[in-house]
Amino acid sequence: MSTKDYVEKDYYKVLGVPKDATTAEIKKTYRKLAREFHPDANKGDTKAEDRFKDISEAYDVLSDDKRRKEYDEARSLFGAGGMRGGGTNGAGYNFDFGDLFNGSPAGGAGSGGIGDVFGGLFNRGGRQPQPRRGADVETEVTLSFEEAVDGATVPLRMTSQAACRTCAGTGAKAGTTPRVCPTCVGAGTVSRGQGAFALSDPCRDCKGRGMIVDDPCTDCHGSGRATSARTMQVRIPAGVQDAQRIRLKAKGAQGERGGQPGDLYVTVHVDTHPVFGRKGDNLTVTVPVSFPEAALGGTIEVPTLNGPAVKLRLPAGSANGLTLRARGKGATRKDGTRGDLLVTVEVTVPQETTGEALTALEQYREATASQDPRADLFRAAEGA
Ligand SMILES: [Zn+2]
Ligand SMILES: [Zn+2]
Repeated sequence: MSTKDYVEKDYYKVLGVPKDATTAEIKKTYRKLAREFHPDANKGDTKAEDRFKDISEAYDVLSDDKRRKEYDEARSLFGAGGMRGGGTNGAGYNFDFGDLFNGSPAGGAGSGGIGDVFGGLFNRGGRQPQPRRGADVETEVTLSFEEAVDGATVPLRMTSQAACRTCAGTGAKAGTTPRVCPTCVGAGTVSRGQGAFALSDPCRDCKGRGMIVDDPCTDCHGSGRATSARTMQVRIPAGVQDAQRIRLKAKGAQGERGGQPGDLYVTVHVDTHPVFGRKGDNLTVTVPVSFPEAALGGTIEVPTLNGPAVKLRLPAGSANGLTLRARGKGATRKDGTRGDLLVTVEVTVPQETTGEALTALEQYREATASQDPRADLFRAAEGA
């Protein structure tokens, strides 16, 4: 669609709605007309196809509040009489927009012609290039075991493509502004093929940006983009596991032309801990106990990850490998509660026994000589 079309075409007439129609009315009318003139319902009828195209075009502009306002403004300024050579019947159109845009004498002295007026006008929203969402960004972070358990705010240094600061992303040298690409009239795309289902390709003249920069910014060479390094404080939630990938919404690369930023994906590596392990929300620890402790029972002290030691009751006759549970001393869950600390007892055997301990052990052996610890084993083996 050219600028001339934009001003010449009466989209209200095309849809058959009053100029003050509400968006809902426009939508309703459009739906009705679109059904009626849809190419699928009118196979081979080129008139219906053209009509469908006009309807779609009109709807595109009038259903978009911003574009509709722009359109109304353009028409009230240049369309409804002002540009029509004074004719009251609307037939006296006699200006060549092409000349105006090219800065011919008809457009006024030098560069400040009516083309600039249009450039500014459409730049404000009428045919603005589409916003583009920023790219997703991947990064990695290594957390200590404790940070992963409790959650941590860590600084992430990110390099990304952001808007050039010198030109604020426009790509134009200071004091100049980019102009709307005349080939695609700011759309960034050009249509290929005919009819309502024409394909669109990125515009070659402006490389899909919809704008042309005559004097490029020296810092970004007109791209409007710059590699920027930024350090972000990122909150890693409690309970994150090694190799887990976390998505942080809208923390990725910035969008273009008002588009949404992309997301940031952080792959987390968690260091191991010399004492504690992790099983889901629970922490694990192995605690040595002596044979008398295991046999007679007692109270044992167990270290916790981030707090004072806890005392646990070890029942008399505890077998090697028995697991005790210290409630609420595990990893923080998403809801703020904590898992448990699973304490596995490991009965230790002294490497060397001397003196009173040796005498006592020898007495113990004599006292238990009639108890064969393997009796059950042999019974079971024979029975099988
Ligand atoms: Zn273009
Ligand atoms: Zn720049």
